[in-house]
Order: sequence, then structure tokens, then C-alpha cells
Amino acid sequence: MRCPFCGNIDTQVKDSRPAEDHVAIRRRRFCPACGGRFTTYERVQLRDLVVIKSNGRREDFDRDKLERSIRISMQKRPVEPERIDQMISGIVRRLESMGESDIPSKTIGEIVMEALARIDTVAYVRFASVYKNFQAADDFDKFVSELRPNPAPDET
Ligand SMILES: [Zn+2]
Repeated sequence: MRCPFCGNIDTQVKDSRPAEDHVAIRRRRFCPACGGRFTTYERVQLRDLVVIKSNGRREDFDRDKLERSIRISMQKRPVEPERIDQMISGIVRRLESMGESDIPSKTIGEIVMEALARIDTVAYVRFASVYKNFQAADDFDKFVSELRPNPAPDET
């Protein structure tokens, strides 16, 4: 595994242990060249998924990309990192078990929104606002009010 800091490919595994309720193996790695430390995860991949973008372009499904977008939505939200990992694994398992290896990006967005809506309303709105590309403020307000008929005053 190549060191993300210096590019050295000869890195060492210092520690391996189960993570996410044994769905993944978490490895702590060490780079002897620069002293850098980083973590990798090993997971089962049931099938190779291809994302069909709205412009028709095909792209290999990238779990890390999905994870980044979800983590951005989850920033500073009171949700345990472990729970976020589980949610992401659940989303990927759902995608893998859909029976098709070609999945429209729209479908992925909808599944992510469904999962986020169950965990954290604010993260859901953040993700949805980007995903649905709400440009008009009116639309966004309407969307939020539809989403939360009983706004909780303690949430910002
Ligand atoms: Zn290094």
C-alpha cells in the first residue's frame, strides 16, 4: 500500500483488527520512509458497481467518494463515527444487492438521502441541498418546511 504522504510503496501493517461489527478489517499502517501513519479498511466487495451519471457517462463506483460526501454532510453533527460507517456499509450493501451492476447516480443519491433522513435531519438537508442542486432559495425553504413540519427550536 502506497504511503499517502511520501509515495513510498513499502509500508508496514502495525495493527489489524475487526471494525464495524466485523464487516471490515481496520489496519494501522506505518511508512518507514517518512514516519507517516495511516489507516486502511478491507471490506468484502460483492460485485463491481458502475455508476451511470446523469450525462450518461459511466464511472466505477467509488466508496471513498460516497463516504466523503456523507462525512461532509455529517460535519459537526452529534452522530457517532461508528454509526456513520455502518450506514455507509449498509448503503453499499444495498447497492450491491440491487441485481444490477450499472446503477444510475440518481438511485445512489436517493438511497443516501433515505439513509441520512433516518439518522440526522440536518445532514439530510445538507446532502439533499447539494444533491438536488437547489439554486432558488424559495425552493430550498419549501423543501425544508416540507421536511420538518414541526421544527425543533433547539436545532440550528
Ligand atoms: Zn511515507
